[in-house]
Amino acid sequence: MQTIDKFNFAGKKAIVRVDFNVPLDENGKITDDTRIRGALPTLKKILADGGALIIMSHMGKPKGKVNAKYSLGQIADAVSEKLGVKVQFVADCAKAQAEAAALKPGEVLLLENLRFYGEEEGKPVGIDKEDPAYEAAKKEMKAKQKDFAKVLASYADCYVNDAFGTAHRKHASTAVIADYFDADNKMLGYLMEKEVKAIDNVLKNAQHPFTAIIGGSKVSSKLAVIKNLLDKVDNLIICGGMGYTFIKAQGGKIGESIHEDDLIPEALNIIAAAKEKGVNLSLSVATVAADAFSNDANRKTVDIFNIPDGWQGMDASEASLENWKKIIMNSKTILWNGPAGVFEFDNFSHGTGEIAKALAEATQKNGCYTLVGGGDSVAAVGKFGLADKVSYVSTGGGAMLEAIEGKVLPGVAAIKGE
Ligand code: AMP
Repeated sequence: MQTIDKFNFAGKKAIVRVDFNVPLDENGKITDDTRIRGALPTLKKILADGGALIIMSHMGKPKGKVNAKYSLGQIADAVSEKLGVKVQFVADCAKAQAEAAALKPGEVLLLENLRFYGEEEGKPVGIDKEDPAYEAAKKEMKAKQKDFAKVLASYADCYVNDAFGTAHRKHASTAVIADYFDADNKMLGYLMEKEVKAIDNVLKNAQHPFTAIIGGSKVSSKLAVIKNLLDKVDNLIICGGMGYTFIKAQGGKIGESIHEDDLIPEALNIIAAAKEKGVNLSLSVATVAADAFSNDANRKTVDIFNIPDGWQGMDASEASLENWKKIIMNSKTILWNGPAGVFEFDNFSHGTGEIAKALAEATQKNGCYTLVGGGDSVAAVGKFGLADKVSYVSTGGGAMLEAIEGKVLPGVAAIKGE
């Protein structure tokens, strides 16, 4: 497999898929530039080698239609500033032939939002899924997707995918385009390499004891993740809102706590599977309950199996945290996805903060490998200022989850040829 480090971009035009789907305020100003900064090492290496850059990305969900609100033109100046090179914006990503042909070493094009074309996602535009004509339209769009990818590929000599946030999508720019480059001329960017390595560190090369901490609101959204991890981990900590389904499944009284009745059979399956596989499944023993879903609600700590009517579990209790900290401090590899409570409310963020701190301590003191993945746990380590104290914080929520489910990511497979 070709790698970005080995590749010399001198005199070459590189088309690079990045994830510049950055949040903007109402004036089009970037409110968080993490994603742009994440792609800089790759972009700078190409320019430093003497290559020329064609940068492409999506922004938001314009669903195949031009929409000024999602124009990448809004961020062209910010990208220029961060790269230290004036970026030339091309207002139609599928009509950049002339600009690409004229591009010289050291120069940079930024293409307009790929998703202004339905071809990017390969989804029919303006036709409902329920419509009988949908399937035929989808087939037609899949064929058009190949043509679109071919046009993008024609701009450059080589292709780099550094957009981990969309690596779980088989889109024109993330996967299909790779078919138009031979194996020596396509590669992952530095950010993608880091993300793939982080996933391998936990899923393929984990040192034991290996602990997964899975939290958040719903069992349903993490079911496949939990099932895949049961074959790999020594300890499985279930925290946050999803834990109440497991307590109810065992006959506990959970008051008004968030839960999914239809997932009770699955929760029981997981409990049984953990026992059979010798996985130490650790649930809450007590919870900080509230009498309303509000930061200012009254609070009390109650036994997890006896949450009073009118009360709901909102945060991890000290007793649960004690158990979990012991497991964390005894682990050599930890994967954390999903908060331990309603951490957006300061009064119920304690448990999530304590887990973040324990992970940081395990990393720093014990040399434990700690991977934090998935939107809300990433926000949590950020909130507690601990992002640089854990081993790796993933930038891709959906992509990370699918990878932990054991799925092959199309964006990675397209390069690796899997
Ligand atoms: P997820 O997107 O599934 O990772 O869930 C994250 C969300 O779960 C956050 O917005 C949390 O506020 C929410 N959450 C965590 N614990 C609870 C709880 N005990 N009750 C309600 N929501 C929760």
